[in-house]
Amino acid sequence: MQRVKNAVRSRSIHVCVVDTGSCNGCDIEVLACLSPRYDIEQYGIYVHNNPREADVLLVIGAVTPQWEDKLIALWEKIPEPKAAIAVGNCPISGCVFNRHDSYVSAPASKFIPIAAEIPGCPPRPTEILSTILAIAPLAFKDFERERK
Ligand code: SF4
Repeated sequence: MQRVKNAVRSRSIHVCVVDTGSCNGCDIEVLACLSPRYDIEQYGIYVHNNPREADVLLVIGAVTPQWEDKLIALWEKIPEPKAAIAVGNCPISGCVFNRHDSYVSAPASKFIPIAAEIPGCPPRPTEILSTILAIAPLAFKDFERERK
């Protein structure tokens, strides 16, 4: 299984997206990455929602209490090597939902390791794209080195 994944990965990066409680602003920017204008697939990045085939997890939203355990479970389903990227201010700090009477549990890094953060409310599609392209090869390289 790992050999198959490594062969596929040499030509592509599979991305799983999870919304842990957002205003949908960041979701729209991720969707924009799929549009002809940004055409994320031309870089070999495929976005879907199957964690078992994913390399990179994009975390959106401020992590509501209902999402705490689910986020950990989702992360554990993704095979190594893997990397999580926090998209937008919500998973980094809670953003507008971070108030004294807040019900959110941000940052997402309390629950899973976050390899990179893309600040912004919301960040631009180009920032999302460039971060995936920068982080994924680094995560894979570390994994290959550990296996040797
Ligand atoms: S960072 Fe801003 S745009 Fe993104 S989900 Fe949070 S509030 Fe919405």
